[in-house]
Amino acid sequence: MNSFKLLKSDHLIHGITTRVGGVSTGAYSSMNTGIFGDDKRDYVLENIRRALSELGTDAKTIILAQQVHSKNVVIIDDETNFNTMEKVKLENTPLEGFEMYISAVTDGLMTNRNDVILITFYADCVPLILYDPVKHVVAAVHSGWMGTVKAIGANAVRKMVSVYGSNVSDIRAGIGHSAGICCYEIGDDVIEALKVEFSVESIRDFVIPKRYGKYMIDLKEANAKLFRDAGIVQKHIEIDPDCTICNPEKYHSHRRARGGKRGMMSAIVQLK
Ligand SMILES: [Zn+2]
Repeated sequence: MNSFKLLKSDHLIHGITTRVGGVSTGAYSSMNTGIFGDDKRDYVLENIRRALSELGTDAKTIILAQQVHSKNVVIIDDETNFNTMEKVKLENTPLEGFEMYISAVTDGLMTNRNDVILITFYADCVPLILYDPVKHVVAAVHSGWMGTVKAIGANAVRKMVSVYGSNVSDIRAGIGHSAGICCYEIGDDVIEALKVEFSVESIRDFVIPKRYGKYMIDLKEANAKLFRDAGIVQKHIEIDPDCTICNPEKYHSHRRARGGKRGMMSAIVQLK
C-alpha cells in the first residue's frame, strides 16, 4: 500500500493499493481490487477487506465509483440517498457486515462524512486524492488521459471550494503511482485533445515529442499543472514517482497487459 506523507493526518485514512498482498492468482495476482472485472468476486472482496484492514478503516459503508472517463465528481453527504445506488450483495462474502454501493457514471467521489469509505480504481490511470484538513473534506479522483483532457482534477478542486467552502490554499493533493513518462506513449489525437484545457506552451512541459506523430507524456505532471492552475500551492502537491507499466512485480498495468487480463488497484479514503 502506498500513501502520501503530505496527507498524513489523525483525521484521514488513505492509501493506494499495489498488486502485492492479495489472494488472486494468474494475471490478477495477487492484490486485485477490480470488482468490475472478471476475477473471482470473493477473491476481489477478500483483497478489499485486506486493504481496509491494513489501513484501519472503521466505517461500514463503502462507495465505489463506476468509472467512465468523465469529469464528474459526486458528493456523498448527509443528503445522499443510498437507495438510488446499485447495491453490491455482500452476504456470505469476506465483506459481510459492510454495505457497498456503486456511484454510477462518475470518476470522482467527495465527502465530509466520517462513516463512508470511498474507493476509485486504477491500472495506469492517475489516482488523485484531495484533502482539506480545515473543512474536513476528502476526494478520490480517477484521471486517465481522458480525465486529464477534461481536467477532472481541477473540477474536483472547484467543487471542494464551491460545495464545502474550502480555501484552495488549504487543499493538499496526492498524485499516485500510474503510467510514467518513461513508458506512456500517446499519439497526435491526445495532443489535440489536450489543447482544449492546456496551452501549447504548457503541453511542452509534460510531453516529449518522438518521431512519427508519437509522444511520451507525463500525465502526473499534467495533473499537477491542473492543480496549480486551480490554485493549489506547489508545496501541497505530492507526486509518487513510480511507473505502473515498468514495475510488473509491484503494480497492475493495462498497457502492459495489451488488452489482456489484468488486475486493478484502488485509492481508498475515509475521514476520521
Ligand atoms: Zn515506466
